[in-house]
Amino acid sequence: MRVLITGGAGFIGSHLAEAYLERGDDVYIIDDLSTGSMDNIRFLQEDPRYRNKIFVHINTILNHDMMLELTGICDVVYHLAAAVGVKTILDKPLESIVTNIQGTEKVLEMCNKFKKRVLIASTSEVYGKHTHAPLVETDNIIYGPSSKFRWSYAASKLMDEFTALAHYRTNGLEVIIARLFNTVGPRQTGAYGMVIPSFVAQALKNEPITVFGDGTQTRTFTYVKEVVTALMKLMASDQAIGEVINVGGVEEISILDLAQRIIDMTGSTSTIQLIPYAEAFGKDFEDMQRRVPSTQKLEQVTGFAPDKSLDFILSKVIEYINRR
Ligand code: UDP
Repeated sequence: MRVLITGGAGFIGSHLAEAYLERGDDVYIIDDLSTGSMDNIRFLQEDPRYRNKIFVHINTILNHDMMLELTGICDVVYHLAAAVGVKTILDKPLESIVTNIQGTEKVLEMCNKFKKRVLIASTSEVYGKHTHAPLVETDNIIYGPSSKFRWSYAASKLMDEFTALAHYRTNGLEVIIARLFNTVGPRQTGAYGMVIPSFVAQALKNEPITVFGDGTQTRTFTYVKEVVTALMKLMASDQAIGEVINVGGVEEISILDLAQRIIDMTGSTSTIQLIPYAEAFGKDFEDMQRRVPSTQKLEQVTGFAPDKSLDFILSKVIEYINRR
């Protein structure tokens, strides 16, 4: 099979590419390296087993001719290319919206032209400001006002979901939407604000751990290789077509407890420093207080749901950052 991965040089995309190559498939990657990196995939390009199996195009998904060629060649498409991370959204608001909305429109247009099955990576951010748990795919969504730019990320990814579902309803295009919950693991960088690589890097340098807000906000982290398994199983499932499905982990933890856990696991002498949101992100920032997935639907559709413990995930990230 030939698999096209937009954003294939990114953190999740590179793990997905690796899994398909290991299985013997051909992988086509398109990535503009805005947040992706050749470091994530060079080892795959250099692996003799994958000679003539991996094809990398450094280009934008907004390039019509490139997307026409790649979508035409491939059997299935994973659309992972997006502006990622709250920090990116706040630093580059316009670029992020264009990438997320126009980029997804382009991918869907091409998939529809060639009638290729496509999985769109969405995000738990779409749920907005809930405090109940777990979050179920049919839940209402609650956003703050448009003056708070964080919500542009949720709104743009929600629009991507609607566009994909509209293609399904109108054109019978086989679309699958996966809402990913805080994916972590080796190759993720703290450069775009992601909490676990940031905290681990701080702990290993015995620098203060920067907890934003009061640290009572919670997250549920998912191990990247389990996310890849879930995405591959979703792609292979006819039952997933036209559906929105959560992909998330099992252990809810507050960010303050996470900081302490990382200090304990690394044997660091770091202290914990509480930083007001306004200082970290500017005055118009609003956080999501709680984020816990229901993975019942994922399990029902694929027979699989991530179950790796947070300690396991942290040990993998610590080992990776230590090695670098
Ligand atoms: N966070 C933090 N310190 C950091 C980076 C992030 O306290 O250096 C917090 C952030 O405010 C959020 C949580 O950790 O409440 C998860 O942040 P991340 O950006 O990893 O993902 P999000 O869930 O916000 O998309």
